[in-house]
Amino acid sequence: MDHISVDMLRTCEKCGREGRACHSQCWYNGMDEPRTSMSFSCGHCGAAVEEDGTGLTEEERLLFYRQYGIWELRLDCPEGSDMKLARSLQDVLGASAREALLYLKGKNAEWSRGTPVEVECLRGKLAAKGVPAVVAEAVPPTEAT
Ligand SMILES: [Zn+2]
Repeated sequence: MDHISVDMLRTCEKCGREGRACHSQCWYNGMDEPRTSMSFSCGHCGAAVEEDGTGLTEEERLLFYRQYGIWELRLDCPEGSDMKLARSLQDVLGASAREALLYLKGKNAEWSRGTPVEVECLRGKLAAKGVPAVVAEAVPPTEAT
């Protein structure tokens, strides 16, 4: 999935009533990081706001998790190549050596989880280094709170 969005209600800065904000996150091959944006429109006074690179607050992140679930990166690689893979993980993801090794041993690592778009971005960066991985759902939307 390379583009996801959620809607939320937000107080209009112009008239103080409630309007609808749409938060989007996208990633396409070649981008360094997922891009976030927000568009707000107020049905009462007609105010409209567009913002790029807003990032995600914890509240917005939870909305994405509730709608799309939590996803994680799963490496698809033969056993025995751990040290080499750990190095690639460190290079590409900025993980510590310890995190990378724990991840290869099958422990859940927070940094390997996120929205489907964030994890797809990790997958793309690893693929560029020749490390095959798949993006899989870790927690379905109904359980992601
Ligand atoms: Zn308004």
